[in-house]
Amino acid sequence: MKNVLVVNAGSSSIKYQLIEAETGIRQASGLVERIGEPQGRILHRGERSDEHELAVPDHTAGFTAMLDAFARHGLAAQDLGIVAIGHRVVQGAGEFSAPTLLDDRVTERINALSELAPLHNPGHYQAIVAAREVFPDVPHVAVFDTAFHQTMPPQATTYAIDTAVAAEHGIRRYGFHGISHQVVSRRAAEFLGRPVTELRQLVLHLGNGASACAVDRGRSVDTSMGLTPLEGLVMGTRSGNIDPGALLHLMRAGLSPDDVDDLLNQRSGLLGLTGTGDFRDVRAAADRGEPEAELAIAVMVHRIRHYLGAFFVSLGGADAVVFTAGVGENNAALRADVCAGLEWLGIRIDPERNAAPNGEARRISTDDSPVAVLVVPTDEEAEIARQTWDLVTA
Ligand code: ADP
Repeated sequence: MKNVLVVNAGSSSIKYQLIEAETGIRQASGLVERIGEPQGRILHRGERSDEHELAVPDHTAGFTAMLDAFARHGLAAQDLGIVAIGHRVVQGAGEFSAPTLLDDRVTERINALSELAPLHNPGHYQAIVAAREVFPDVPHVAVFDTAFHQTMPPQATTYAIDTAVAAEHGIRRYGFHGISHQVVSRRAAEFLGRPVTELRQLVLHLGNGASACAVDRGRSVDTSMGLTPLEGLVMGTRSGNIDPGALLHLMRAGLSPDDVDDLLNQRSGLLGLTGTGDFRDVRAAADRGEPEAELAIAVMVHRIRHYLGAFFVSLGGADAVVFTAGVGENNAALRADVCAGLEWLGIRIDPERNAAPNGEARRISTDDSPVAVLVVPTDEEAEIARQTWDLVTA
């Protein structure tokens, strides 16, 4: 059996999935967390699940803990059939527009890009170094969240500030969630039975993190996230768009850059508006008539519709609007709110289809709706495995 190990690591955690290369079927998955703390933990799901507390001083120990978990399930390292390892990397900036084989130089470039992604790239780097040490004999591939958006035209990537300052600090729009937007737009096209290269799609990835993407015939031409994954939609704990003047105002009032970072990344969005960042809780509170929760959802919907309108224009009309990720796949009421009153745009939702839960790709618009509205589950790990396998077998 040929398997790709997909690694999605942060500075204190490693998420992994073992995926059969040719079929995309998931064999096992797990999470090592609290790396570097006195007591860490591994949750492993193979044929059965198990949970183990242990010290995981660093990422190398994290991969060893993963191998031990497989061994407890009767699978020694050499039985895992790992033919390649695909690493998710959030920030590839303007340097990486495709999956890239990891050698020493690429590994160091990912570390150097930490400046643009201080919350993400340092953890990826640590995991890549450790994984290359633990698995020296297989190819390692970096799959970037920014790569899919490298096709955005300059007018969509440029912030209107002094060009010299922008160039010196790498200030431009990169966009994120590219792996998800890519797999979802491809699967939506498959569902519709049409080549992705013929479709104008508007993909709404609504999870804890959230972003919209205008996908024009398979290429990203605009997206809501920018220099960092903070711009754009209202998220679980992130503000999305805010007047940059508000930041200046807060800093003049005495907040440090770290305070503002913490405010906008960790204590804003649904959490800031309601006290909880989990959409299910906010929805339940809104259903009970709690005004803060109702307002939070209204703000979230208003912002999504803002981008819906903008990207319809960017694309010159859309063939499909596609909902994905935790909220987009699971909450019919949110989808109904986003699409409400848009019949004039060609969006006609079938309420029964919208309400029918289903884990597969499906249509929630009426058969005569000019714009197909779909729910398509995202699967970033399967896409990383696919891109990794494609690269190593090319
Ligand atoms: P992440 O960005 O962490 O990958 P997910 O795509 O898993 O996030 O989405 C997490 C969000 O999806 C949470 O706000 C959660 O409340 C929401 N969610 C998950 N399941 C449901 C559900 N059945 N109904 C409504 N919201 C859901």
